[in-house]
Amino acid sequence: MAEMTTVLEKIRDQGERMTMPRRLVIEALGQSHKHRTIADIHLYMQAHYPDYGISDTTIYRVLQWLKDLELISQTDIGQAGVVYALIDHPCHHHLICLSCGETFTVDDAPFATLRDQLQQNYGFEARIEHMAVYGHCRKCVESGKTK
Ligand SMILES: [Zn+2]
Ligand SMILES: [Zn+2]
Repeated sequence: MAEMTTVLEKIRDQGERMTMPRRLVIEALGQSHKHRTIADIHLYMQAHYPDYGISDTTIYRVLQWLKDLELISQTDIGQAGVVYALIDHPCHHHLICLSCGETFTVDDAPFATLRDQLQQNYGFEARIEHMAVYGHCRKCVESGKTK
């Protein structure tokens, strides 16, 4: 839950107002290290706050707000759709196979190198905090199923 405390602190530091929907969405995201879709968050609300009706539109708005504050990342990971996650450090990324649909989680090392080079060569500070990279997995490449 350390993560969630950090998020709440950052929001306070930025002078943002905390409302009930905001608090609950942050709680739903902080409950696990997994990513959550809007549907997942809705299910969490129904399970934990059955009397508190919150619409998908409200959830979506809160997520956009958190994204603007750079506290969450939004990533399209293929079949699972668009997922949201609190930005964790060190961050992780996903490799998604276009042939079999398998997804792999990878650590930040290759992306840290990419960030460094973009910084050095272009003076560009890339925000690469939760990437989805599409391609073909080893299994599919080796069995020739990449077409
Ligand atoms: Zn992820
Ligand atoms: Zn594959």
